[in-house]
Amino acid sequence: MGKLVIISGPSGSGKTTVCKLLTKDPHIKKSISVTTRLPRDSEKNGEAYYFVSKHEFEEMIQRGELAEHAEYCEHSYGTPMKALKEALVKEGFYLLEIEVQGALQIMEKLPETISIFLLPPDKKTLGQRLIQRNANREEDMENRLKIADKEMEYKDRYNYCVVNDDLAATVSTIRKILNLA
Ligand code: 5GP
Repeated sequence: MGKLVIISGPSGSGKTTVCKLLTKDPHIKKSISVTTRLPRDSEKNGEAYYFVSKHEFEEMIQRGELAEHAEYCEHSYGTPMKALKEALVKEGFYLLEIEVQGALQIMEKLPETISIFLLPPDKKTLGQRLIQRNANREEDMENRLKIADKEMEYKDRYNYCVVNDDLAATVSTIRKILNLA
């Protein structure tokens, strides 16, 4: 049986980079979410996300095709059910890099899920990382920082909290949590 692993944390905590490094291990696969937000420059459809319209997203909800879904910064995000079910009948780990509201839905439905909350070393670093990324409009960035404060309030609902100060150390800690190190 495959094991489900949630990685949450505020925007700028380094989730995407950590997940990219984790998936270098053939035992670890990552779910590709569906979103209504526009792709950033480097993002390709079917790789970073499946980019869909609001209407398509609503239809997916109606057809029961999403295992969880949530609103974030005025856009919708969701985890495709079919790929998740397929992953769970195979060996290995299946990563869900999702925000807090979706994470809580999955924890309730599938309590055996391993949940990890990634913390930035401090708030200043979080702001700097968001500026460096430079892909979000200023207004969006402020919104993300506000959401970050709210998301932090939920960190105790997760099985593990990992401070992402040093990337290699973070990946190694998570691999230990998964008994892969
Ligand atoms: P971003 O726009 O920066 O790619 O993602 C915004 C937030 O949505 C991040 O916290 C990211 O982890 C989260 N997210 C990405 N995919 C999903 C999903 O399928 N479901 C939920 N609930 N959140 C997601």
